[in-house]
Amino acid sequence: MGNETKQLSIIGGGLAGALLAILLTQRGWSVDVFERRGDPRIGGYAGGRSINLALAERGLHALRQAGADVDVLKQAVMMRGRFVHPLHGTPSLQRYGRDDSEVIYSISRGELNIVLLDIAESHGARLHFDHALERADFADHTAYFRHHDAEITHAFRALIGADGAGSTLRAQIAKVQPLGERSEGLGHGYKELEIPPSLAGDFRIEPNALHIWPRGHYMCIALPNDERTFTVTLFMPREGSYPSFAQVQTGADAQALFARDFPDALVLIPQLQHDYDANPVGTLATLYLDRWHLGGQAVLLGDAAHAMVPFHGQGMNCAFEDCVALAEQLASTPELAQAFAAFEEQRKPNAEAIQQMALENYIEMRDKVDDAAFLLQRQLELALQERHPGRFVPHYSMVTFMRIPYAVALQRSDLQRELLVEATHGLTTLDGVDWPALDAAVLAKLSPLLP
Ligand code: FAD
Repeated sequence: MGNETKQLSIIGGGLAGALLAILLTQRGWSVDVFERRGDPRIGGYAGGRSINLALAERGLHALRQAGADVDVLKQAVMMRGRFVHPLHGTPSLQRYGRDDSEVIYSISRGELNIVLLDIAESHGARLHFDHALERADFADHTAYFRHHDAEITHAFRALIGADGAGSTLRAQIAKVQPLGERSEGLGHGYKELEIPPSLAGDFRIEPNALHIWPRGHYMCIALPNDERTFTVTLFMPREGSYPSFAQVQTGADAQALFARDFPDALVLIPQLQHDYDANPVGTLATLYLDRWHLGGQAVLLGDAAHAMVPFHGQGMNCAFEDCVALAEQLASTPELAQAFAAFEEQRKPNAEAIQQMALENYIEMRDKVDDAAFLLQRQLELALQERHPGRFVPHYSMVTFMRIPYAVALQRSDLQRELLVEATHGLTTLDGVDWPALDAAVLAKLSPLLP
């Protein structure tokens, strides 16, 4: 196959693979997508249960580029903030943004994937389901797939790895060029449970929020689904003192844990014991690579390049940003090796920044959202946003409602956190804040962010 052909082969037809297929076909590329699983539009989405994801501005922007935003949002549930359920005390909503113009959306992974696959196919992408990449021969540009009992070969110009955290393409590249791969496990796992609709068919708790039950070193969260259920995720350590997955092994153990620590959630999950016994404990890890591409022959993106822990709700959003960045690089740089290198240079520092922020956000969600000092800092953050619009932008807003590079958001968040901690030190209300000194520090340390 000649190097001049505008042809690319994507491994993985999940979230990033399907979106990238749209963005490339829109730009005149001839695209093949190889997906290990069957067609979810025929056999239903493998994974069965309704697993959902938080979609924020970065992901939404990418969906707009692909013309998929309207269809995706039709099936989404808006979430305007965190609904925090303390063990003692009244549950309450903490808004994410200033008003309902700053919200995120809960979407079903399966429904999103199907919308993207439909659009990709309508643009002419060739979708090959039940095709699992087994190996790639980069010397003769041939990829080998398992298709039921048969081995299928495919001559490629370049392979794009959107095959997720356990990427086979990554392993194949590493055989011919070391990638400097390191995976850091979090030591915590997760288990998914479900809150069904009420007998009247309604949501059983506030639908327009992401619910959190913070409990120190462990927590539950719940995101709404458009069929009026919630997917609940219990995060806790795999090993160690109670509670950990090593100690809470059976549905009956989980029932006892929920009775003690999540009593208001327990009454909402009638199938708790069954779900707990039936569902596996998921693994959480951060994947770091020194390199994301093999010359002009292969490149990795999304989870295949930089899987992260899910606590900022940004893994998919970041993967979608990758897709837009790669499609733009390929449009402006005809030579593939150069385009892949430029893509890696642009995205790698940003992926590493959101990986770090995702790890930090676990501590915030499970331990701080009901902490008085944290809440006072959050109050001050909002006050400073009003006093210094476009200059002091809360951390969560920079990551979630804006598209500034993640690395910039991280650097500014660190500076801002120092100011917040210092200004509220020893205070229980904002009455004692030294506003002139704080305003001066904001002006000195933070440049305007918006034009
Ligand atoms: P994947 O979605 O994993 O897709 C990879 C695809 O490749 C799959 O379809 C797979 O079948 C296919 N494949 C694998 N191997 C092969 C092979 N050998 N040959 C062919 N095909 C193959 N992100 C958010 O933005 N918001 C959230 O709220 C959020 N919540 C999360 C909650 C949890 C519990 C977890 C674990 C993750 C969460 N994420 C969230 C992260 C998000 O799920 C991932 O970042 C996202 O799915 C990455 O997309 P991807 O296309 O790179 O990989």
